[in-house]
Amino acid sequence: MSETGKFGQYGGQYVPEALMPAIEELTDAYERYVLDNEDGFMDEFRERLRDFGGRPTPLQYADQLSERYDTDVYLKREDLLHGGAHKLNNALGQVLLAKYMGKDRIIAETGAGQHGTATAMAAAHLDMPCEIYMGRTDINRQRPNVFRMRLNGAEVNPVTVGRGTLKEAISETMRDWATTVETTHYVIGSIVGPDPFPRMVRDFHRVISDEMREQSLDRLGRLPDSVLACAGGGSNTMGAFAEFVDDDAVDLVAVEAGGSSLTVDEDEGVAPNSATLSTGVEGVLHGARTKLLQDSDGQIMESHSVSAGLDYAGVGPELAYLVDEGRVTPVNVGDDAALEGFHRLSQEEGIIPALETAHAFGYLHENPDAVGDVTLINVSGRGDKDLETVIEETEKRDLDVDVEMSVFESSGGAM
Ligand SMILES: *Cc1c(COP(=O)(O)O)cnc(C)c1O
Repeated sequence: MSETGKFGQYGGQYVPEALMPAIEELTDAYERYVLDNEDGFMDEFRERLRDFGGRPTPLQYADQLSERYDTDVYLKREDLLHGGAHKLNNALGQVLLAKYMGKDRIIAETGAGQHGTATAMAAAHLDMPCEIYMGRTDINRQRPNVFRMRLNGAEVNPVTVGRGTLKEAISETMRDWATTVETTHYVIGSIVGPDPFPRMVRDFHRVISDEMREQSLDRLGRLPDSVLACAGGGSNTMGAFAEFVDDDAVDLVAVEAGGSSLTVDEDEGVAPNSATLSTGVEGVLHGARTKLLQDSDGQIMESHSVSAGLDYAGVGPELAYLVDEGRVTPVNVGDDAALEGFHRLSQEEGIIPALETAHAFGYLHENPDAVGDVTLINVSGRGDKDLETVIEETEKRDLDVDVEMSVFESSGGAM
Protein backbone atom coordinates (compact mmCIF):
# COMPACT_ATOMS: atom_id res chain seq x y z
CA MET A 1 0.00 0.00 0.00
CA SER A 2 1.37 3.40 -0.94
CA GLU A 3 2.19 5.40 2.17
CA THR A 4 1.10 8.62 0.47
CA GLY A 5 -2.46 7.35 0.44
CA LYS A 6 -2.71 7.51 4.23
CA PHE A 7 -3.99 10.31 6.42
CA GLY A 8 -2.68 9.24 9.84
CA GLN A 9 -4.29 5.84 10.41
CA TYR A 10 -7.05 6.61 7.89
CA GLY A 11 -7.29 6.01 4.15
CA GLY A 12 -5.42 3.18 2.41
CA GLN A 13 -6.48 0.67 -0.23
CA TYR A 14 -8.78 -2.02 1.16
CA VAL A 15 -9.85 -3.55 -2.13
CA PRO A 16 -10.14 -7.06 -3.63
CA GLU A 17 -7.13 -8.36 -5.61
CA ALA A 18 -9.06 -7.98 -8.86
CA LEU A 19 -9.14 -4.19 -8.43
CA MET A 20 -5.46 -3.69 -7.58
CA PRO A 21 -4.29 -3.32 -11.21
CA ALA A 22 -6.92 -0.63 -11.78
CA ILE A 23 -5.95 1.18 -8.59
CA GLU A 24 -2.26 1.08 -9.51
CA GLU A 25 -2.91 2.33 -13.03
CA LEU A 26 -5.07 5.14 -11.68
CA THR A 27 -2.47 6.12 -9.06
CA ASP A 28 0.15 6.37 -11.78
CA ALA A 29 -2.16 8.48 -13.99
CA TYR A 30 -3.13 10.76 -11.08
CA GLU A 31 0.50 11.41 -10.23
CA ARG A 32 1.54 12.08 -13.82
CA TYR A 33 -1.40 14.08 -15.15
CA VAL A 34 -2.79 15.81 -12.05
CA LEU A 35 0.27 16.30 -9.86
CA ASP A 36 2.83 16.78 -12.67
CA ASN A 37 0.54 18.31 -15.34
CA GLU A 38 1.88 15.86 -17.95
CA ASP A 39 0.66 16.63 -21.50
CA GLY A 40 -0.89 19.84 -20.12
CA PHE A 41 -3.72 17.90 -18.44
CA MET A 42 -4.34 20.48 -15.71
CA ASP A 43 -4.32 23.32 -18.23
CA GLU A 44 -7.04 21.63 -20.27
CA PHE A 45 -8.98 20.83 -17.07
CA ARG A 46 -8.90 24.51 -15.94
CA GLU A 47 -9.87 25.71 -19.40
CA ARG A 48 -12.88 23.40 -19.55
CA LEU A 49 -13.91 24.35 -16.00
CA ARG A 50 -13.86 27.97 -17.14
CA ASP A 51 -15.69 27.62 -20.47
CA PHE A 52 -18.02 24.68 -19.83
CA GLY A 53 -18.35 25.04 -16.04
CA GLY A 54 -18.42 28.82 -15.67
CA ARG A 55 -15.49 29.24 -13.28
CA PRO A 56 -14.45 31.21 -11.36
CA THR A 57 -17.62 31.30 -9.27
CA PRO A 58 -18.26 34.57 -7.40
CA LEU A 59 -17.54 35.32 -3.77
CA GLN A 60 -20.59 37.35 -2.80
CA TYR A 61 -21.14 39.61 0.21
CA ALA A 62 -24.38 38.61 1.99
CA ASP A 63 -25.91 41.91 3.19
CA GLN A 64 -28.81 40.62 5.25
CA LEU A 65 -26.97 37.76 6.94
CA SER A 66 -24.02 40.02 7.76
CA GLU A 67 -26.30 42.48 9.50
CA ARG A 68 -28.29 39.79 11.30
CA TYR A 69 -25.27 37.97 12.73
CA ASP A 70 -22.92 40.93 13.11
CA THR A 71 -20.12 39.31 11.11
CA ASP A 72 -19.16 39.86 7.48
CA VAL A 73 -20.62 36.86 5.69
CA TYR A 74 -19.36 36.02 2.19
CA LEU A 75 -20.89 33.27 0.06
CA LYS A 76 -18.80 31.14 -2.29
CA ARG A 77 -21.34 30.57 -5.05
CA GLU A 78 -20.70 26.97 -6.16
CA ASP A 79 -24.45 26.84 -6.80
CA LEU A 80 -23.67 28.92 -9.89
CA LEU A 81 -21.34 26.28 -11.34
CA HIS A 82 -22.84 24.46 -14.36
CA GLY A 83 -25.21 21.78 -13.09
CA GLY A 84 -26.03 23.76 -9.95
CA ALA A 85 -23.49 22.29 -7.53
CA HIS A 86 -19.78 21.81 -6.90
CA LYS A 87 -19.97 18.23 -8.21
CA LEU A 88 -18.95 19.11 -11.78
CA ASN A 89 -15.36 19.98 -10.66
CA ASN A 90 -14.73 16.35 -9.80
CA ALA A 91 -16.83 14.70 -12.51
CA LEU A 92 -15.16 16.75 -15.26
CA GLY A 93 -11.70 16.12 -13.81
CA GLN A 94 -12.17 12.36 -13.66
CA VAL A 95 -13.81 11.94 -17.07
CA LEU A 96 -11.03 14.01 -18.63
CA LEU A 97 -8.43 11.90 -16.80
CA ALA A 98 -10.10 8.72 -18.12
CA LYS A 99 -9.71 10.14 -21.61
CA TYR A 100 -6.00 10.85 -21.07
CA MET A 101 -5.67 7.26 -19.76
CA GLY A 102 -7.13 5.92 -23.00
CA LYS A 103 -10.30 4.53 -21.40
CA ASP A 104 -13.42 4.50 -23.54
CA ARG A 105 -16.18 3.89 -20.98
CA ILE A 106 -17.30 5.72 -17.84
CA ILE A 107 -19.23 4.21 -14.93
CA ALA A 108 -20.41 5.87 -11.72
CA GLU A 109 -22.76 5.31 -8.82
CA THR A 110 -25.30 7.78 -7.61
CA GLY A 111 -27.61 8.08 -4.61
CA ALA A 112 -29.86 11.09 -4.94
CA GLY A 113 -28.70 11.48 -8.53
CA GLN A 114 -26.55 14.60 -8.20
CA HIS A 115 -23.24 12.87 -8.86
CA GLY A 116 -24.83 10.79 -11.63
CA THR A 117 -26.10 13.89 -13.41
CA ALA A 118 -22.74 15.67 -13.08
CA THR A 119 -20.94 12.62 -14.47
CA ALA A 120 -23.45 12.22 -17.33
CA MET A 121 -22.98 15.92 -18.20
CA ALA A 122 -19.18 15.63 -18.18
CA ALA A 123 -19.29 12.41 -20.24
CA ALA A 124 -21.57 13.98 -22.85
CA HIS A 125 -19.31 17.05 -22.98
CA LEU A 126 -16.24 14.86 -23.56
CA ASP A 127 -18.05 12.36 -25.82
CA MET A 128 -17.62 9.28 -23.61
CA PRO A 129 -20.22 6.50 -23.19
CA CYS A 130 -21.49 6.50 -19.61
CA GLU A 131 -23.42 4.10 -17.37
CA ILE A 132 -24.77 5.05 -13.96
CA TYR A 133 -25.68 2.54 -11.25
CA MET A 134 -28.55 3.69 -9.10
CA GLY A 135 -30.63 1.87 -6.46
CA ARG A 136 -34.19 1.02 -7.46
CA THR A 137 -35.58 2.90 -4.44
CA ASP A 138 -33.57 6.00 -5.35
CA ILE A 139 -34.70 5.79 -8.99
CA ASN A 140 -38.31 5.95 -7.84
CA ARG A 141 -37.58 8.89 -5.50
CA GLN A 142 -35.50 10.90 -7.98
CA ARG A 143 -37.24 10.66 -11.34
CA PRO A 144 -36.20 14.10 -12.66
CA ASN A 145 -32.52 13.28 -12.08
CA VAL A 146 -32.89 9.92 -13.82
CA PHE A 147 -34.30 11.74 -16.83
CA ARG A 148 -31.53 14.37 -16.74
CA MET A 149 -28.95 11.56 -16.95
CA ARG A 150 -30.80 9.97 -19.89
CA LEU A 151 -31.09 13.33 -21.64
CA ASN A 152 -27.31 13.55 -21.51
CA GLY A 153 -27.11 10.15 -23.14
CA ALA A 154 -26.19 8.06 -20.08
CA GLU A 155 -27.61 4.61 -19.37
CA VAL A 156 -29.09 4.23 -15.89
CA ASN A 157 -28.73 0.71 -14.46
CA PRO A 158 -31.19 -0.05 -11.62
CA VAL A 159 -29.72 -1.88 -8.60
CA THR A 160 -32.35 -4.04 -6.91
CA VAL A 161 -30.33 -5.80 -4.19
CA GLY A 162 -30.63 -4.80 -0.52
CA ARG A 163 -32.49 -1.58 0.17
CA GLY A 164 -31.80 -0.35 -3.35
CA THR A 165 -29.91 2.77 -2.26
CA LEU A 166 -26.42 4.32 -2.48
CA LYS A 167 -24.51 1.66 -0.52
CA GLU A 168 -25.68 -1.12 -2.87
CA ALA A 169 -25.09 1.07 -5.95
CA ILE A 170 -21.44 1.59 -4.91
CA SER A 171 -20.90 -2.16 -4.45
CA GLU A 172 -22.46 -2.87 -7.84
CA THR A 173 -20.26 -0.27 -9.57
CA MET A 174 -17.15 -1.77 -7.94
CA ARG A 175 -18.22 -5.20 -9.25
CA ASP A 176 -18.58 -3.83 -12.80
CA TRP A 177 -15.17 -2.14 -12.56
CA ALA A 178 -13.41 -5.32 -11.37
CA THR A 179 -14.31 -7.06 -14.66
CA THR A 180 -13.89 -4.07 -17.03
CA VAL A 181 -10.78 -2.26 -15.73
CA GLU A 182 -9.04 -2.39 -19.10
CA THR A 183 -11.58 -0.15 -20.82
CA THR A 184 -13.45 1.56 -17.99
CA HIS A 185 -12.94 4.29 -15.42
CA TYR A 186 -15.07 4.45 -12.26
CA VAL A 187 -15.85 8.06 -11.32
CA ILE A 188 -16.27 8.09 -7.51
CA GLY A 189 -18.47 10.94 -6.27
CA SER A 190 -16.73 12.19 -3.13
CA ILE A 191 -13.39 12.14 -1.26
CA VAL A 192 -14.05 8.52 -0.27
CA GLY A 193 -12.98 5.10 -1.55
CA PRO A 194 -9.47 3.62 -1.85
CA ASP A 195 -6.40 5.76 -2.51
CA PRO A 196 -5.87 7.62 -4.85
CA PHE A 197 -9.56 8.67 -4.97
CA PRO A 198 -9.64 10.79 -1.76
CA ARG A 199 -6.49 12.74 -2.80
CA MET A 200 -7.54 13.03 -6.42
CA VAL A 201 -11.14 14.15 -5.79
CA ARG A 202 -9.83 16.73 -3.30
CA ASP A 203 -7.41 18.05 -5.89
CA PHE A 204 -10.19 18.46 -8.48
CA HIS A 205 -12.25 20.43 -5.92
CA ARG A 206 -9.26 22.40 -4.61
CA VAL A 207 -10.11 25.11 -7.14
CA ILE A 208 -12.88 26.20 -4.74
CA SER A 209 -10.50 27.26 -1.94
CA ASP A 210 -7.90 28.41 -4.46
CA GLU A 211 -10.40 30.99 -5.68
CA MET A 212 -11.74 31.74 -2.18
CA ARG A 213 -8.25 32.50 -0.92
CA GLU A 214 -7.42 34.75 -3.85
CA GLN A 215 -10.83 36.50 -3.81
CA SER A 216 -10.51 37.03 -0.08
CA LEU A 217 -7.02 38.57 -0.35
CA ASP A 218 -8.03 40.70 -3.37
CA ARG A 219 -11.26 42.00 -1.92
CA LEU A 220 -10.57 42.17 1.81
CA GLY A 221 -6.79 42.29 1.89
CA ARG A 222 -6.87 39.49 4.41
CA LEU A 223 -7.84 35.86 5.01
CA PRO A 224 -11.19 34.97 6.58
CA ASP A 225 -11.55 34.09 10.26
CA SER A 226 -13.81 31.13 9.56
CA VAL A 227 -14.72 28.89 6.63
CA LEU A 228 -17.96 26.88 6.90
CA ALA A 229 -19.00 24.01 4.63
CA CYS A 230 -21.48 21.16 4.91
CA ALA A 231 -20.04 17.64 5.01
CA GLY A 232 -21.53 14.44 3.59
CA GLY A 233 -18.69 12.45 2.08
CA GLY A 234 -16.79 15.70 2.40
CA SER A 235 -15.80 16.75 -1.12
CA ASN A 236 -17.13 20.32 -1.09
CA THR A 237 -15.75 20.58 2.43
CA MET A 238 -12.19 19.59 1.51
CA GLY A 239 -12.47 21.67 -1.65
CA ALA A 240 -13.29 24.71 0.46
CA PHE A 241 -10.68 23.91 3.16
CA ALA A 242 -7.66 22.59 1.22
CA GLU A 243 -5.88 25.89 0.57
CA PHE A 244 -6.51 27.12 4.16
CA VAL A 245 -5.29 24.05 6.04
CA ASP A 246 -1.85 25.60 6.60
CA ASP A 247 -3.31 28.96 7.72
CA ASP A 248 -3.69 28.23 11.42
CA ALA A 249 -5.61 31.44 12.06
CA VAL A 250 -8.45 30.34 9.77
CA ASP A 251 -11.06 28.21 11.59
CA LEU A 252 -12.37 25.35 9.46
CA VAL A 253 -15.85 24.16 10.42
CA ALA A 254 -17.46 21.03 8.90
CA VAL A 255 -21.22 21.05 9.36
CA GLU A 256 -22.77 17.58 9.39
CA ALA A 257 -26.37 16.41 9.37
CA GLY A 258 -27.66 15.99 12.92
CA GLY A 259 -30.83 14.50 11.41
CA SER A 260 -33.72 14.08 13.84
CA SER A 261 -31.52 13.07 16.78
CA LEU A 262 -27.96 12.14 17.75
CA THR A 263 -29.26 9.17 19.77
CA VAL A 264 -28.73 5.83 18.08
CA ASP A 265 -31.13 2.88 18.21
CA GLU A 266 -28.69 -0.06 18.28
CA ASP A 267 -31.41 -2.72 18.10
CA GLU A 268 -32.74 -1.28 14.86
CA GLY A 269 -29.26 -0.65 13.42
CA VAL A 270 -30.29 2.91 12.66
CA ALA A 271 -28.57 6.23 13.31
CA PRO A 272 -31.19 8.98 12.83
CA ASN A 273 -28.39 11.29 11.64
CA SER A 274 -25.29 11.39 9.42
CA ALA A 275 -22.96 12.94 11.98
CA THR A 276 -20.03 10.67 11.14
CA LEU A 277 -17.25 13.09 12.12
CA SER A 278 -18.89 13.90 15.47
CA THR A 279 -20.06 10.41 16.48
CA GLY A 280 -18.44 7.87 14.14
CA VAL A 281 -16.09 5.02 15.05
CA GLU A 282 -13.04 3.88 13.08
CA GLY A 283 -13.64 1.08 10.58
CA VAL A 284 -13.33 0.13 6.89
CA LEU A 285 -15.94 0.92 4.22
CA HIS A 286 -15.73 1.11 0.44
CA GLY A 287 -11.98 0.59 0.32
CA ALA A 288 -10.76 2.98 3.02
CA ARG A 289 -10.27 3.15 6.78
CA THR A 290 -12.23 6.09 8.16
CA LYS A 291 -14.84 7.15 10.69
CA LEU A 292 -18.15 5.33 10.22
CA LEU A 293 -21.59 5.09 11.73
CA GLN A 294 -21.49 1.54 13.10
CA ASP A 295 -22.96 -0.39 16.00
CA SER A 296 -20.97 -2.07 18.77
CA ASP A 297 -20.61 -5.21 16.60
CA GLY A 298 -19.03 -3.18 13.82
CA GLN A 299 -22.09 -3.36 11.55
CA ILE A 300 -22.63 -0.29 9.37
CA MET A 301 -25.80 1.50 10.44
CA GLU A 302 -28.36 3.17 8.24
CA SER A 303 -27.94 6.93 8.30
CA HIS A 304 -30.57 9.62 7.99
CA SER A 305 -30.80 13.24 6.89
CA VAL A 306 -33.52 15.35 5.35
CA SER A 307 -30.91 16.12 2.66
CA ALA A 308 -30.11 13.10 0.50
CA GLY A 309 -26.59 14.34 -0.29
CA LEU A 310 -25.50 14.20 3.36
CA ASP A 311 -27.13 10.83 4.01
CA TYR A 312 -24.04 8.57 4.10
CA ALA A 313 -22.61 6.36 6.88
CA GLY A 314 -18.98 7.18 6.02
CA VAL A 315 -16.83 10.26 5.48
CA GLY A 316 -13.59 11.05 3.66
CA PRO A 317 -10.47 9.74 5.46
CA GLU A 318 -8.69 13.09 5.18
CA LEU A 319 -11.49 14.90 6.99
CA ALA A 320 -11.54 12.21 9.70
CA TYR A 321 -7.81 12.80 10.15
CA LEU A 322 -8.05 16.61 10.24
CA VAL A 323 -10.78 16.32 12.87
CA ASP A 324 -8.59 14.03 15.04
CA GLU A 325 -5.70 16.50 14.61
CA GLY A 326 -7.93 19.32 15.86
CA ARG A 327 -7.54 21.26 12.59
CA VAL A 328 -11.19 20.88 11.49
CA THR A 329 -14.05 21.39 13.94
CA PRO A 330 -16.99 19.03 13.37
CA VAL A 331 -20.42 20.40 14.32
CA ASN A 332 -23.89 19.22 13.48
CA VAL A 333 -27.25 20.72 12.69
CA GLY A 334 -30.60 18.91 12.77
CA ASP A 335 -33.24 18.59 10.05
CA ASP A 336 -35.46 21.38 11.47
CA ALA A 337 -32.66 23.94 11.74
CA ALA A 338 -31.49 23.06 8.23
CA LEU A 339 -34.99 23.60 6.83
CA GLU A 340 -35.22 26.94 8.65
CA GLY A 341 -31.82 27.87 7.21
CA PHE A 342 -33.13 26.97 3.74
CA HIS A 343 -36.14 29.30 4.10
CA ARG A 344 -34.10 32.11 5.66
CA LEU A 345 -31.51 32.20 2.88
CA SER A 346 -34.26 32.07 0.26
CA GLN A 347 -36.14 34.95 1.85
CA GLU A 348 -33.33 37.20 2.99
CA GLU A 349 -30.72 36.74 0.27
CA GLY A 350 -32.75 35.59 -2.74
CA ILE A 351 -30.77 32.36 -2.96
CA ILE A 352 -32.56 29.01 -2.75
CA PRO A 353 -29.79 26.74 -1.44
CA ALA A 354 -29.47 22.96 -1.59
CA LEU A 355 -30.73 21.33 1.63
CA GLU A 356 -27.17 20.09 2.18
CA THR A 357 -25.82 23.64 2.09
CA ALA A 358 -28.67 24.85 4.32
CA HIS A 359 -27.06 23.00 7.24
CA ALA A 360 -24.20 25.52 7.22
CA PHE A 361 -26.67 28.38 7.50
CA GLY A 362 -28.50 26.55 10.29
CA TYR A 363 -25.20 26.39 12.16
CA LEU A 364 -24.47 30.10 11.75
CA HIS A 365 -27.97 30.92 13.00
CA GLU A 366 -27.58 28.77 16.11
CA ASN A 367 -23.98 29.87 16.81
CA PRO A 368 -23.43 33.43 15.57
CA ASP A 369 -20.77 33.96 18.25
CA ALA A 370 -18.72 30.94 17.18
CA VAL A 371 -17.41 32.71 14.07
CA GLY A 372 -15.00 35.65 13.77
CA ASP A 373 -15.29 38.99 11.93
CA VAL A 374 -15.16 37.50 8.43
CA THR A 375 -16.97 34.26 7.63
CA LEU A 376 -16.87 32.43 4.29
CA ILE A 377 -19.63 29.89 3.60
CA ASN A 378 -19.43 27.44 0.74
CA VAL A 379 -22.81 27.38 -1.03
CA SER A 380 -22.28 23.86 -2.38
CA GLY A 381 -25.41 23.82 -4.52
CA ARG A 382 -28.78 25.27 -5.42
CA GLY A 383 -32.05 23.97 -4.04
CA ASP A 384 -34.26 23.47 -7.09
CA LYS A 385 -33.80 19.70 -6.74
CA ASP A 386 -35.12 19.87 -3.17
CA LEU A 387 -38.38 21.75 -3.62
CA GLU A 388 -40.67 18.71 -3.33
CA THR A 389 -38.88 17.57 -0.17
CA VAL A 390 -39.04 21.05 1.30
CA ILE A 391 -42.79 21.37 0.65
CA GLU A 392 -43.46 18.00 2.26
CA GLU A 393 -41.12 18.53 5.24
CA THR A 394 -42.20 22.11 5.90
CA GLU A 395 -45.89 21.12 5.95
CA LYS A 396 -45.46 18.39 8.53
CA ARG A 397 -43.28 20.40 10.93
CA ASP A 398 -43.79 23.35 13.17
CA LEU A 399 -40.93 25.46 11.84
CA ASP A 400 -39.98 29.04 12.58
CA VAL A 401 -40.53 30.18 8.99
CA ASP A 402 -42.68 32.78 7.31
CA VAL A 403 -43.85 31.20 4.06
CA GLU A 404 -47.34 30.62 2.66
CA MET A 405 -47.96 26.86 2.42
CA SER A 406 -51.73 26.77 2.04
CA VAL A 407 -51.78 26.34 -1.73
CA PHE A 408 -49.91 23.08 -1.28
CA GLU A 409 -51.98 21.90 1.68
CA SER A 410 -55.27 22.32 -0.19
CA SER A 411 -53.95 20.53 -3.25
CA GLY A 412 -52.72 17.58 -1.23
CA GLY A 413 -49.06 18.59 -1.31
CA ALA A 414 -48.65 17.67 -4.96
CA MET A 415 -46.45 19.89 -7.05
C1 LIG B 1 -23.52 15.88 -3.02
C2 LIG B 1 -23.69 17.17 -2.35
C3 LIG B 1 -23.16 17.43 -1.06
C4 LIG B 1 -22.48 16.39 -0.24
O1 LIG B 1 -21.34 15.81 -0.81
P1 LIG B 1 -19.88 16.19 -0.30
O2 LIG B 1 -19.01 15.18 -0.93
O3 LIG B 1 -19.91 16.09 1.20
O4 LIG B 1 -19.60 17.57 -0.75
C5 LIG B 1 -23.29 18.70 -0.54
N1 LIG B 1 -23.95 19.67 -1.20
C6 LIG B 1 -24.49 19.47 -2.42
C7 LIG B 1 -25.20 20.58 -3.09
C8 LIG B 1 -24.38 18.21 -3.03
O5 LIG B 1 -24.93 18.02 -4.25
